[in-house]
Amino acid sequence: VTQKLILNATILSIGSELLSGEIADTNAAWLADALLERGILLRHALSCDDQFPQIQDAATFLLERSDLVIVSGGLGPTDDDLTREALAQLFNMPLEMHHGLLDSLKQLFQSRGRTFVKNNERQALIPRGAEVIPNPIGTAAGFMISVEYAGKPRLVAALPGVPKEFKIMLNLGLFKSIEHLLPESTYKRSFFRTFGLPESVIGQRVAAVPAPPEVSVAYRAHFPEVQVKLRYPTNLNSEVTRNIEKYTAKIREAIGADYIFSENSKVPLNEVVHNLLVKSSKTISVAESCTAGGLGAALTELSGSSNFFLGGIQSYSNQIKNKLLGVPQKTLDTYGAVSAECAEQMARGVRKKLGSDIALSITGIAGPEGGTPEKPVGTFYIGFATATENGAYRYFYPQSRDMVRTYSIWCALDILRRYLLELPVVVKVRYDTNQDDSQNGYPKAKSV
Ligand code: ATP
Ligand code: MG
Repeated sequence: VTQKLILNATILSIGSELLSGEIADTNAAWLADALLERGILLRHALSCDDQFPQIQDAATFLLERSDLVIVSGGLGPTDDDLTREALAQLFNMPLEMHHGLLDSLKQLFQSRGRTFVKNNERQALIPRGAEVIPNPIGTAAGFMISVEYAGKPRLVAALPGVPKEFKIMLNLGLFKSIEHLLPESTYKRSFFRTFGLPESVIGQRVAAVPAPPEVSVAYRAHFPEVQVKLRYPTNLNSEVTRNIEKYTAKIREAIGADYIFSENSKVPLNEVVHNLLVKSSKTISVAESCTAGGLGAALTELSGSSNFFLGGIQSYSNQIKNKLLGVPQKTLDTYGAVSAECAEQMARGVRKKLGSDIALSITGIAGPEGGTPEKPVGTFYIGFATATENGAYRYFYPQSRDMVRTYSIWCALDILRRYLLELPVVVKVRYDTNQDDSQNGYPKAKSV
């Protein structure tokens, strides 16, 4: 079948969990975005049960309506995974054992120390004439079928439902092998990922700059960050393009360049901080109370974090704050565990104990219980210590327990980012043993 340019696509997500409300179809959402980036429209997203008639029925519906049909899920080794059989029957392409695939499956099992049983052979069955889409991280290979449907050339690609595998196989497998069928990207995007300002404020700042008619502006509050996306066509004359570039620069300034932690949709805050720490050759340690390890986890998510992360102390109880971190009992008695004084002592203590260049601490009331009129739920402090300065920052974020915990981790990461970039730390109230709150300038250095 000679293929033509792919302009639109559909997805069929297979799995009973999708229909029982157990899971949301994140594969479809991710695919919609990935396709749009390539100038392809996702026309329909359909879900169906792991059943022959349902799969064939839904696939037929989608084949009638789009150039490319992507099927997700149902490629496992068990009897209830029916995607390959259903598609093979629908297209009249009998399943055949793919020996290359069988060999690599057996090898994969061996390298993982797992026994290869008869049932696993099913995963090497591929419809005759289909092209294999290898799975670099799992056992379920995918396949691509080129067919003619109602006189039109169609591509059908079946991929496993596990989101990690689905994504990597689309990016490295399918999109690569059909590159010549993809339209030239017709849109360009600028992407601003911000932290520290509410969506309404960001929206106001962006709206104050008149946008060229070619640019569409979109906002997305993706807790705890706010994203701003600018989208415009690529086929514009050079004057319009220059104008859009100027507009983009103005938007960056209007938002506040220091609130933008990343302009890459794939690079999150902890990766930005990771890269800055590597570049600075500084080491870090953490002392966590209400987040109990969440900050350490965020700092060590990417490989290479051993270059800067020394360790952390989960000082959940006052006893540990006192015994392990050296927070004076007097500080705890006078100001309480949720206080600027305690946060600062925690940071200083962990820095001294672990011998890092930088230390961060978090202490707060995540709720829903434990709030007081002076320190309501959502109050938290971030302590900061280096060889030359230390202090603490007070925040108030009255939300659910998990939101307070996540938000405080992000605040700590953002303090770190701003410190490493020599940007001012922006918080509502800043406590510093050396400086009163009325002066809201850059934190003054203080020797230990
Ligand atoms: P295999 O990966 O062995 O081919 P499969 O494709 O049938 O199996 P499932 O066993 O149905 O995949 O699901 C595996 C995991 O992927 C589950 O955790 C499921 O929640 C998740 N998953 C499946 N489909 C989707 C989807 N459309 N969106 C998000 N998660 C999904
Ligand atoms: Mg399944």
